[in-house]
Amino acid sequence: MPALFMGHGSPMNAIEDNEFSRGWKKLALSLPKPKAILCVSAHWETNGVYITSSAKLKTIHDFAGFPKALFDVEYNANGSPELTKRISDLVKIAPVTLDNARGLDHGVWSVLLPMYPNADIPVVQLSLDRTKPASFHYNLAKELAPLRNEGILIISSGNIAHNLGLFNFNAASSYEWATRFNDKIKEYIASGSHQSLIDYTSLGQDAALSVPTAEHYLPLLYIAGLQELDDKISFFNDKVVSSISMTSFAISK
Ligand code: ZN
Repeated sequence: MPALFMGHGSPMNAIEDNEFSRGWKKLALSLPKPKAILCVSAHWETNGVYITSSAKLKTIHDFAGFPKALFDVEYNANGSPELTKRISDLVKIAPVTLDNARGLDHGVWSVLLPMYPNADIPVVQLSLDRTKPASFHYNLAKELAPLRNEGILIISSGNIAHNLGLFNFNAASSYEWATRFNDKIKEYIASGSHQSLIDYTSLGQDAALSVPTAEHYLPLLYIAGLQELDDKISFFNDKVVSSISMTSFAISK
């Protein structure tokens, strides 16, 4: 199976017909149908590694100030206790705690709704352990590699550059530092320079402005960690809007 890093941006992309949601729809149509989906999102930060274990996942509306239509969205995907068990067996780098109460945050359902509107593929979500360094996330991802041969689609959801504080809704263009940072990270992805992706803070001021907090950046390290030598890389939704990069990429054989 391919694996995907998806820039999710605004939750409105879930219900708007725009260039980004159309990109996700088009992508989903090009993929083999997964047996189940494993997601890692910027919006489930924990102390320790957690995994959803419920057979029925609730939809979490973890945002404020958006129209009622977005709060009305229910993405009623089933979980997969079987996949949850498989992942907790595969991950050795840290203990994995099962969370039976947790549902899917908007980092997950906002991309899955355009991709798989029928919610007919089981989903499991792994949390982002924010007590750990960037290298931990990269190394954890390596332990998930066998899943790609088991029909599991792995999706991580964040944004390469994500500075909400400086986001300008009226900006027709992007900040130079965001574009520079995005271009550099794309270059590292394309050349397989994984250590540079892990050491992204060495990009100095551009990194500090683009990644003021790490949660939207870290998900991409999961797809980098899964990347094998014979994987092809393709970028999609490759655009920086003001201070947010929507640039996404797929690895596939
Ligand atoms: Zn987000």
